[in-house]
Amino acid sequence: MALVNEHFLKLSNNYLFADIAKKVNAFKVSHPQIKVISLGIGDVTQPLCPAVIEAMHKAVEEMAQKATFRGYGPERGYDFLREAIIKNDYASRGIHLDASEVFINDGAKSDTGNIGEIVRWDNSVGVTDPIYPVYIDSNVMSGRAGVLENGKWSNVTYMPCTAENNFIPAIPDHRVDLIYLCYPNNPTGTVLSKNELHKWVNYALKNDTIIFYDAAYESFIQEDSIPHSIYEIKGAKKVAIEFRSFSKTAGFTGIRCGYTVIPKELTAETIDGKQRVELNHVWDRRQSTKFNGTSYISQRAAEAIYTPEGKQQIRETINYYMANAKMMTDTLTQLGLKVFGGKNAPYLWVKTPDNIGSWAFFEQMLYGAGVVCTPGVGFGPSGEGYIRLTAFGNRSDCEEAMQRLTSMLKG
Ligand SMILES: *Cc1c(COP(=O)(O)O)cnc(C)c1O
Repeated sequence: MALVNEHFLKLSNNYLFADIAKKVNAFKVSHPQIKVISLGIGDVTQPLCPAVIEAMHKAVEEMAQKATFRGYGPERGYDFLREAIIKNDYASRGIHLDASEVFINDGAKSDTGNIGEIVRWDNSVGVTDPIYPVYIDSNVMSGRAGVLENGKWSNVTYMPCTAENNFIPAIPDHRVDLIYLCYPNNPTGTVLSKNELHKWVNYALKNDTIIFYDAAYESFIQEDSIPHSIYEIKGAKKVAIEFRSFSKTAGFTGIRCGYTVIPKELTAETIDGKQRVELNHVWDRRQSTKFNGTSYISQRAAEAIYTPEGKQQIRETINYYMANAKMMTDTLTQLGLKVFGGKNAPYLWVKTPDNIGSWAFFEQMLYGAGVVCTPGVGFGPSGEGYIRLTAFGNRSDCEEAMQRLTSMLKG
């Protein structure tokens, strides 16, 4: 008899964005004359840059000729891309990596969701709260998260990030085996200083913890002092796996390409305590069984981001989004709202007025202004009383949304 993996049944059926879509649709049906503006879902809006388009056209032409056609590529990714990554994203910051430590993938969601396979199912987990839902849900699926008690998973340590602690998570007072950190953060848009990140690396070194470091928003960092990679911290290669993505950096949400770094120095112990195993090797073995590589066309597209033209062009788009973030922050602050994030990340984390609930303010914005946000509580218990706004919209939509919110809150 085939039995279902019952861990999946523990997951809540109602996915956050499906709930939002349902409420938005109900509003649209009853208010057909109002143009709804979404500052909710974290997808980009601006097209691919010319350097990327040119590289993709060229790659398609190669695929059309017998002499240059490419079939299966290397599972770890093509050398041309891995070398461009090492040179531009790491060597330029004094971090030395070998090509064998970089794994090209089809986006960071796959690898952040699958990485848990290479460590024992009964390791304990720590997450900042609120959080990108993939980290917890993937651990629920493998049974590692335990059981849900009062909205929290029994084998997960939650590290609250709120205005009260300035969105700096406290280091746990007990041992946690696996810790997920995401900086710049989705959903709060906040960052960690080098000094704070140092504390996490030291904790991991001391407790033999592995840090899964999601740096999907690295390219949005504006302040020079903020670390772009966890490997800027001494000792981090022994304890951290870093995830990057071209999705937000270069508008690749529909192209699909990212990468994961697993340094050779990173090891984990066997349960009998007799051996330390290189996780780079274990992940390589996993990938060569379950993954057949990212498309050649996507990888040539990603390579083009690292050319001088490509760098300049993606920077312009990032600047466009960050100008949205600034304009939105300024407007909302003038309206008396407390706004966090938005300086080194394309997300604004906004405290609801009068401490009303996240969903209540979501409804107020939808019915009062026709603007869609994401309720903070959807990202975890500590998100209650906040909403997330994204700066990924068209400028004119962001401006109109701010005008409507101004009328709503003043009126
Ligand atoms: C968008 C995002 C990613 C990137 O996902 P892709 O699969 O690369 O598109 C990764 N982590 C976080 C926190 C994100 O918000």
